[in-house]
Amino acid sequence: MSEVEMSVEKHVFEADVAKLLHLMVHSVYSDKNVFLRELISNAADACEKLRYEAIVSPELLGSDPQPRITLTLDEEKARLIVEDNGIGMGRDELVESLGTIARSGTRAFMERIEAVQGKDGAQLIGQFGVGFYSAFMVADNVDVVSRRAGSDKAWHWASDGKGSYTVSAVDIADAPARGTRITLHLMDDAKSYTSRWTVERIVKDQSGHVPVPISIVEKPGGEAAQVADGTALWTKQKSEISKEDYTDFYRGVAGQYDEPALTVHFRAEGRHDYTALAFVPGSKPFDLFDPDRKGRMKLYVKRVFITDEAELLPRYLRFARGLVDTADLPLNVSREMIQESPLLASIRKGLTNRVLTSIEKLAESDPEAFAKVWENFGSVIKEGIYEDFERRTQLLALSRFRTTASADNPRALSDYVKDMKDGQSAIYYLTGDNLAQLQASPQLEGFRARGIEVLLLTDPVDSFWVTTAPDFEGKPFKSITQGAADLASIAKQGSEVTASEANPAVTEFVSFAKATLGEAVSDVRTSDRLTESAVCLVAPEHGPDRQLQKMLQGAGRIEDAAKPVLEVNPRHHLIAALAGCPAEDGAFREDAVKLLLDQARVLDGDRPEDPRGFAERLSRVFGRALKS
Ligand code: ADP
Ligand code: MG
Repeated sequence: MSEVEMSVEKHVFEADVAKLLHLMVHSVYSDKNVFLRELISNAADACEKLRYEAIVSPELLGSDPQPRITLTLDEEKARLIVEDNGIGMGRDELVESLGTIARSGTRAFMERIEAVQGKDGAQLIGQFGVGFYSAFMVADNVDVVSRRAGSDKAWHWASDGKGSYTVSAVDIADAPARGTRITLHLMDDAKSYTSRWTVERIVKDQSGHVPVPISIVEKPGGEAAQVADGTALWTKQKSEISKEDYTDFYRGVAGQYDEPALTVHFRAEGRHDYTALAFVPGSKPFDLFDPDRKGRMKLYVKRVFITDEAELLPRYLRFARGLVDTADLPLNVSREMIQESPLLASIRKGLTNRVLTSIEKLAESDPEAFAKVWENFGSVIKEGIYEDFERRTQLLALSRFRTTASADNPRALSDYVKDMKDGQSAIYYLTGDNLAQLQASPQLEGFRARGIEVLLLTDPVDSFWVTTAPDFEGKPFKSITQGAADLASIAKQGSEVTASEANPAVTEFVSFAKATLGEAVSDVRTSDRLTESAVCLVAPEHGPDRQLQKMLQGAGRIEDAAKPVLEVNPRHHLIAALAGCPAEDGAFREDAVKLLLDQARVLDGDRPEDPRGFAERLSRVFGRALKS
């Protein structure tokens, strides 16, 4: 046995990889072409990484400074070879990069796949970039031979995609002088990937704007013909770029396969020079709310990729994809230098303004397209209302909300304010987990009866921004589940403003209820918030509203929640009857009051505090109803 053969190591794929591979191989996904985009994008990344390392170590480039990707077709042997002269991989990198799943995006993809079985799952492959492993959609065996720049060793990774792979050292004479050569042994139904015409078309469609030139060699030993020149799209004049060019580029940079909803391309000149090309995706990336998710805007310096971790946009625009290229930073800029650079602050500001104004313009020129953007990203943009103090008014004006008057089509606050009722001084809102539950809230009744519109806020972020945004056009935001409702001065629809006269029996009942409930509530009072329901819970005037309090409690952020206020509807027949109950019926009235509190809790989406006591009281009250 030769020394080289002895060093073959066999490895088993990490469980997630095995699952992903199984899916690739058995998928019925029709657009298998995406594998080529994935391999080319890896090759281009490898060339950019080398360019970056070569800034400090120019010797890595040796006598071959031009980056290049070459696709060699071999019809006879049914092979497609993708080769780059980029950074290459050493042994450990092969094992780490091609034997595990490091990317959170791929992990999210796997979770999705598990949730939606079968055909739909296969379609998801098209929406995601699933990287290197997509090679197994078209190949039953894959060989990767790689030599890291500057190393005198080369390595061979091989797999049939069925659970394991091998890694062995190879003679450097059998490896590229630098970089990676991936040989796909094509399956029977994938032989068309040795056709020049097919491959050229796919490359132009999918990878035409990769910043590395791409050539095709029609048969082993043949001449290389360039099919993409590696000019960066963003350096061209806008007038020279077609919509299709932008879409292709977006797909490459975003790893999505849809159309961008918005394209923002501009050159800033003056104190700082930079070019930005940013896209608002046409659909929601699956990891939008992943706390580890960073902005996905890439920073380039003179067309050399530097990092995608510079915060080029605020967090609340983290859905935007694209890049900024500048000549005003040194190539060997460190991460710390980037973060502290005044240029970065200037880019951030300029880019944020341009992205926001483009969204605003879209809202005016194409409300339907804007509605889609809002549906996808509104819940993220709203984070800006409390994170970006300077742009709070602008962001509030851009925001759209479902309301009691328009539950299907979210409305702008300016429209809400225009439609406010005489005597109404606040913008009312109700927060909760879902629209149906909100629409059924007893707290809304009095507002409905008066035709007062209420914002129905269902995003978790809503509870936070409403408490920090003091007003819009001079109108404060007011939770309808907090404090007194102040509705008496606004006329009910079709009637005059009437002062509600106090009924002594009800007043007595309210103090009885208060004494009975003791510590469970902070107060019991009559309410003009209610018209149909007998009771509801509201939060005291100061402190968080009901929903925010529940969220803070859920997150362990507060321990002692403020006790709610129980509001009773003096016009409700049940309250009137209970108020009229003779005082000797004390035990019954006590049961009734406690049941009313539990009823209010249930209406709020909570549970009775003491289920057993609740059941016993309910049985006693039922029993009494049956006796009489
Ligand atoms: P991603 O590109 O999103 O990281 P992939 O599955 O496409 O995920 O690739 C996994 C990793 O394998 C890459 O991050 C890279 O480290 C390595 N890799 C793949 N192809 C190459 C290549 N041609 N040259 C160097 N490294 C590569
Ligand atoms: Mg990749």
